[in-house]
Amino acid sequence: MIVYIGLGGNQGDMQCNLQTALKLIDAHEACQLITCSSWYRSKALTLDNEEQADYLNAVCKISTDLEAERLLDLLQSIELKLGRTRKKRWGARTVDLDILLYGDARINSPRLTIPHPQLQNRNFVVQPLMEIDGALEIPAIGSLKVLAKALGWEGLQRVNEETL
Ligand code: ATP
Ligand code: CA
Ligand code: CA
Repeated sequence: MIVYIGLGGNQGDMQCNLQTALKLIDAHEACQLITCSSWYRSKALTLDNEEQADYLNAVCKISTDLEAERLLDLLQSIELKLGRTRKKRWGARTVDLDILLYGDARINSPRLTIPHPQLQNRNFVVQPLMEIDGALEIPAIGSLKVLAKALGWEGLQRVNEETL
């Protein structure tokens, strides 16, 4: 199964945390990292206009034999390992790992919605996806290219390793 995962964080050494998350995903016997996008910097989404540091984001493409919920278990265990403590939705966190696409499956279970329900609203997910797979079609939504054009780059920039 080909799966796309969104990575983000806005606390601590974000580049190190996201890199460690990628390594831990790839280290699982049933997961193989295929590609990862560049890093992107994005303005935090907040629920109550609190001040929050910018996020570092990326998306990766993996191949896995894990069922979607088992993959979610793995991602949540990696979040914990990397010291994610916050409880609040959209609050600051060291690392957030979201399953964006799981093959062309559509899943609606108590723990899992796939495609990720906010994918089509978030340029920090859509633009990195464009970078690694511009021809993607999103189940029930349509062409990634069309989405990327509509969402644009507000609050988002691609960052070079040197400027991190
Ligand atoms: P958002 O979902 O808006 O990106 P968030 O990432 O801050 O917000 P979390 O607190 O990380 O939200 O996750 C809340 C719950 O979302 C998780 O416990 C998980 O069960 C559920 N969830 C549903 N669909 C997905 C998905 N596609 N990927 C990851 N988690 C998901
Ligand atoms: Ca998220
Ligand atoms: Ca999440």
